[in-house]
Amino acid sequence: MKRKIVGYHQDEKDDWVADLDCFHGQHVRHEPLFFNRPWSATAEGRKSKLGEILDCKRCDVLEFPEGLKEYKRTPVFTQDTIPKGLLKHHTTKLGTWGKIHVLEGKLLYNPEGRESITLLSSQTANIPPEMQHDVAADGSVRFYVAFYTLPIEV
Ligand SMILES: [Zn+2]
Repeated sequence: MKRKIVGYHQDEKDDWVADLDCFHGQHVRHEPLFFNRPWSATAEGRKSKLGEILDCKRCDVLEFPEGLKEYKRTPVFTQDTIPKGLLKHHTTKLGTWGKIHVLEGKLLYNPEGRESITLLSSQTANIPPEMQHDVAADGSVRFYVAFYTLPIEV
């Protein structure tokens, strides 16, 4: 999934990692012959690449980023009370990850361009920011969705 570079940090080996707007990191080290990114070695070079787009494979596999905190959750929905908006294609906004929690029954989760995922009782699935998706009950189901973001460091 296309993500924007919003900052940088260094990992434990002092290699530069780009912070993406999905809260994933991606290494941008310069290794001649392997990764030709001389820009990552200087502060000026890194600054010049802020706002550039990288392809985030971790979003593609719905990997939940580290360090996020839940800030809101929906009521528990059943097959009869699922809001219509969830049955149609929709997205969470930039900066918000969703996590579907199935309490009982069976729910189909359909992230756009990917295989449909069947969630059973006590299973969860992650929803990356801005990824089109919808859900559908398969028989009876009880589930809720929790929303996460990265706490702002003061
Ligand atoms: Zn990502």
